[in-house]
Amino acid sequence: MHIKELVLDNFKSFGRKTRIPFYENFTTISGPNGSGKSNIIDSVLFALGLARTSGIRAEKLTDLIYNPDDDGTTVTGEREAQVEVILDNSDGEISRSQVVSAAGTDNVGDTEEINVKRRVKQTEENYYSYYYLNGRSVNLSDIQDLLSQVGVTPEGYNVVMQGDVTEIINMTPHARRQIIDEIAGVAEFDARKEDALEE
Ligand code: ATP
Ligand code: MG
Repeated sequence: MHIKELVLDNFKSFGRKTRIPFYENFTTISGPNGSGKSNIIDSVLFALGLARTSGIRAEKLTDLIYNPDDDGTTVTGEREAQVEVILDNSDGEISRSQVVSAAGTDNVGDTEEINVKRRVKQTEENYYSYYYLNGRSVNLSDIQDLLSQVGVTPEGYNVVMQGDVTEIINMTPHARRQIIDEIAGVAEFDARKEDALEE
């Protein structure tokens, strides 16, 4: 399974609907400073619910909506941003029944493609965040449960951010071991064991 395409609409510096295709094995994105490379990574973290707002370099969710002035001023009125992550699941790594169970309906279309979409909408008084799985409205936990079954989790190192490598190098051996346990999937069992011992 791999990301096939991202569709950014009004997200951060992407004021126009932008489709970004990805190759199966390796894709690099290059461009001058400030051109939006990191914003593309942020869009994946945002749509898949893998990071808090601070992790995607924003103070609040509505800062992720395109601001034509981009001068830090608060924009009022109705506006919204949307990001779609289209996963190529033609290898069937995520089974149809997993998608059906996460979406809570049989009506999920063809699961050779998995489409995770997130919208953030600002109104006069409030803001709202919505997640969709193959077009069906779902909760963040549904997306997280589904992705965790293929090893994509907020705690995981599926996305290695700037500074992560240095941080890992500077860690104590014990802290480094915890990361390896997390990646290997052992940490989850340690946590369950602790829970069981407490009961
Ligand atoms: P570098 O090479 O320096 O890492 P980059 O290509 O990773 O640069 P980004 O950090 O992705 O660049 O993009 C930064 C740009 O995005 C800045 O110009 C910033 O003002 C702009 N930006 C961030 N949020 C918004 C927003 N809500 N609306 C418009 N522009 C935004
Ligand atoms: Mg950058």
